[in-house]
Amino acid sequence: MTVSPEIVFLATCPRCQCEQLQHGFTAADLMGLLYSGYPIEARCASCYKSWPVELRKRVELGEVVAAVCGLRDHAHQQSEVTQNFR
Ligand SMILES: [Zn+2]
Repeated sequence: MTVSPEIVFLATCPRCQCEQLQHGFTAADLMGLLYSGYPIEARCASCYKSWPVELRKRVELGEVVAAVCGLRDHAHQQSEVTQNFR
C-alpha cells in the first residue's frame, strides 16, 4: 500500500484576497476530486471562508499530482485512475 504524499498549495481567498496555504490534501485526495469532478475546497485561515478553487488552479494541481505520482509509482497510479473511470 502506497502512502500518499501531502500536497500543500496556495489559493487566494476571494473574501480577503490573502494567499492561504492549503494543507490536508494528499495526492490521492486531489486525484480523486479532480477525476470525479468534485470541487476542491480551499479554506482561509484568516476569515474562515471556504470556497472551491478555480479551474486554473485545478489544472495546476492536476499537473502537480501527476508529477508527484509519476515520480513515485507511475504504474500503480495509472491502474488506480483506470479503476476510477469504471
Ligand atoms: Zn479570507
